[in-house]
Amino acid sequence: MYHTILSKQKAFFASGKTRSLAFRRQALETLRQGLLRHEKALLQALHDDLGKCETEAYMTELGMLLGEIRYDKKHLEKWARPRRCAAELPLLPARCAEYPEPFGSVLILAPWNYPLLLCLQPLVGAIAAGNCAVLKPSELAPATSHAIAALIADCFGPEYVAVVEGDAAASTGLLEQPFDFIFFTGGERVGKIVMQAAARQLIPVCLELGGKSPCIVDQTADLALAARRIAHGKLTNAGQTCVAPDYLLVHRSVKDQLVQQLIASFRAFAGEAPLSNPDYPCIINDAHAHRLEGLLERGHILCGGRRQGRHIEPTLLDGLTWDDPIMQQEIFGPLLPILVYDRLEDAMEQIAARPKPLALYIFTRDKATQRRVLGQLSFGGGCVNDTLLHVASHKMGFGGVGASGMGRYHGQASFVLFSHYKSVLHQSTLVDMPVRYPPYSESKLSILRRIMR
Ligand code: NAD
Repeated sequence: MYHTILSKQKAFFASGKTRSLAFRRQALETLRQGLLRHEKALLQALHDDLGKCETEAYMTELGMLLGEIRYDKKHLEKWARPRRCAAELPLLPARCAEYPEPFGSVLILAPWNYPLLLCLQPLVGAIAAGNCAVLKPSELAPATSHAIAALIADCFGPEYVAVVEGDAAASTGLLEQPFDFIFFTGGERVGKIVMQAAARQLIPVCLELGGKSPCIVDQTADLALAARRIAHGKLTNAGQTCVAPDYLLVHRSVKDQLVQQLIASFRAFAGEAPLSNPDYPCIINDAHAHRLEGLLERGHILCGGRRQGRHIEPTLLDGLTWDDPIMQQEIFGPLLPILVYDRLEDAMEQIAARPKPLALYIFTRDKATQRRVLGQLSFGGGCVNDTLLHVASHKMGFGGVGASGMGRYHGQASFVLFSHYKSVLHQSTLVDMPVRYPPYSESKLSILRRIMR
């Protein structure tokens, strides 16, 4: 069955239709109109799967998608132009140009935490670059998976964009097919499986993975503002965000003040009774809620800590070490452990000693500290004096490094990711430089020595 879908896509791609810019622009517009037509069903599905209220679902998923489509439509023509560059002296009078071309059919494997955005944002880039695509939404967000299948069937024929619903077995079947590119968002464990499957057929991959993203707060930070922005970053989607601030590294001198401010921000955002707040999202399933509850067994709870079904209170934790389970895995829930540091270099050493994070946040008013952290630590991306928002810019690429992934997308970075660039040298037929041809001689060598160094 997967073979049939892909064969039809390969035939459609070979027809050349997707290469036309007019076709791509129209496809983006069709998707935009589809999203608007299906808005109610999509927002309802996000509520059913994750308890997301309309505002949060619109701000973090649907609105981001519509913005990305608008941005791509506006810039597509410019991105699709050949990138011309001057030839070096020894190559003259040639001209050089890089021609973007679509790969063919792209497989997009999506996670459950932003089940709409993380399935369709890569699709926007794949379409802009002229590819066909097969989407495999996450089975752990079934309502959104069905809503995406209905949306795509309403917009496109499966020979262009198809949706395969299902679990790991469906992914495994798809990974056996000869796709031209694989775009995966998910955890490190499955990322390795995907990369191994891709390697068997030498298929290029982009892996958007996760990890523990640190958040540093130093003694010069505006603590009330930092607390608000950290709390917002942690509580959005109840902490089930790949770029959520996973844990805090706080300068000892401001820890108590920051804790007070964080507790106030948690109350302001999730209310006095978060477990019954209809706008506060739930954990994706019982197994994950149970896992999160287990992480509360070590350390001291400074606020929160209660669970009711799939809801868990915003929780601050203290008194932890790197050996505790909560510090050994990506938390992916509304739990925020606080570690303290005395010297910035100690905090930086702790971060550098661990796998490279997807995001890093630093709250400080000191420019030298900002430069030091940005200059010395490796991480996918991040913010100075904020959380999450770097993901929202269509003008910057987004992706991980090391254990947090490889490859970047969003806006033009997506266009580049989903394109192969053919490097072509256009040579003159009027002039033919004899120096390159045998028989070689001392005089040819001496010319080369002058023009090539
Ligand atoms: P996951 O790795 O469990 O699943 C992702 C996708 O892979 C799903 O479609 C799933 O069906 C499929 N899959 C599961 N097992 C598979 C297998 N054995 N073989 C092939 N495919 C398989 O991830 P998840 O739990 O859905 O998402 C959470 C993880 O994703 C977290 O680690 C989070 O940090 C990460 N994440 C990263 C980003 C990013 O942009 N970098 C965004 C969101 C989530």
